[in-house]
Amino acid sequence: MVQAVRGMRDVLPAEARRWRLVESAIRKVLDGYAYEELYLPVLEFTELFARGVGEATDIVEKEMYSLEDRNGDSLSLRPEGTASCVRALVENGLLFNQTQRVFYSGPMFRYEKPQRGRYRQFNQVGAEAFGFAGPDIDAELIALCADVWERLGITRHVRLELNTLGSAGARQAYRDALVAYLTPYRNELDPDSQRRLESNPLRILDSKNDRTQKLLEHAPVLQDFVDADAREHFDGLQVLLEGRGIEFVLNPRLVRGLDYYTHTVFEWITEDLGSQGTICGGGRYDGLVERLGGRATPACGFSIGVDRTQLLHEVVHQDEPAGAAQVYVCWMHDGLLGAAFSVAGELREADAAVRVHMGGGALKKQLKRADDCGAEWAIILGDDEVGNDTVTIKHLVDGEQKTVARSELVTAIG
Ligand code: ATP
Ligand code: MG
Repeated sequence: MVQAVRGMRDVLPAEARRWRLVESAIRKVLDGYAYEELYLPVLEFTELFARGVGEATDIVEKEMYSLEDRNGDSLSLRPEGTASCVRALVENGLLFNQTQRVFYSGPMFRYEKPQRGRYRQFNQVGAEAFGFAGPDIDAELIALCADVWERLGITRHVRLELNTLGSAGARQAYRDALVAYLTPYRNELDPDSQRRLESNPLRILDSKNDRTQKLLEHAPVLQDFVDADAREHFDGLQVLLEGRGIEFVLNPRLVRGLDYYTHTVFEWITEDLGSQGTICGGGRYDGLVERLGGRATPACGFSIGVDRTQLLHEVVHQDEPAGAAQVYVCWMHDGLLGAAFSVAGELREADAAVRVHMGGGALKKQLKRADDCGAEWAIILGDDEVGNDTVTIKHLVDGEQKTVARSELVTAIG
């Protein structure tokens, strides 16, 4: 048998129901903030990510699924959404003299080591805001996330970590200082960090190597390079978050993996999923639009990892969500199938999820099926019911059964 590709995960019905619950909570909140949805392609020119995410990032160096098109173009499955989103808005002239607050969702692809909470195809919902320079939008995006966790009932299981990288200039100055400090110790660094010394020195701060971390103890710290403007922006953000009662932890080591961040960076982290604990990451990327060929435009966004959020929801709320059907319609013989369809249709009009029993058989067997699919109600249609224009309804949770007029059905199971 041909099996699924490693790291490409099947989301089976029970999990898919929770997935939808999570995704619809996220959408509900985004709608409430009036963010507008975009649908973006899964394939882009490789160059978009090389420029947008950064040549020297793990993502572009070793995690992309790249392929050559039949006409020789190098294309890649998107590893993240921000670069595509910026490309689409610039290409379609939607950033010209206007602000935008948008979101998108869908699969992303990274060639990583698969494990629980880390897959090679995974889903994100990303939100981005363009044209706003102040910390008010940073605060809105963070508050939006907080509202999502609230709606999902996982607020007490996540914490917000926050940092500022300063302006692009500050980041560059820090980078130079870090390189100057580390270069004499070059040979003592782990091989990845040695490589990054030229390509992406900030990422050395993330190294898991003990010896490298030891060397970093006396390294210059980013915070000393953050300029007054960036400090003011960051202080402003903290005041806004405090005003909204959103708790956070300052983490001066938080740098994030993508190259394009400046100023604010943040992550929402849980302790309940082991080492795959970041369920959402984001920040400000004021330089990206220009880097991708647009006019300089301030921008800020986040991306929620749907797979991990769903795993966390499962850890916190074992019993939810409900089954596939709310109502299961049983019928006593073939002559009643038409009535069964008509009852089901009426209930569907009232937004119920209704399964009609298929294949006949004894009532006992039909009720067993009703239980198996998680229905809350069974409807039983016999000759008496159909003759009298009534239906028998059985509440499967407590076993209570009664017969009601057909016209009262919708209210009875409401
Ligand atoms: P990590 O540090 O866990 O690798 P990241 O910094 O690479 O995450 P981002 O690029 O910021 O992640 O993506 C935003 C979110 O997408 C992450 O917080 C996470 O929830 C989710 N995510 C990223 N990579 C994966 C993956 N391989 N499988 C599942 N979810 C992922
Ligand atoms: Mg990663």
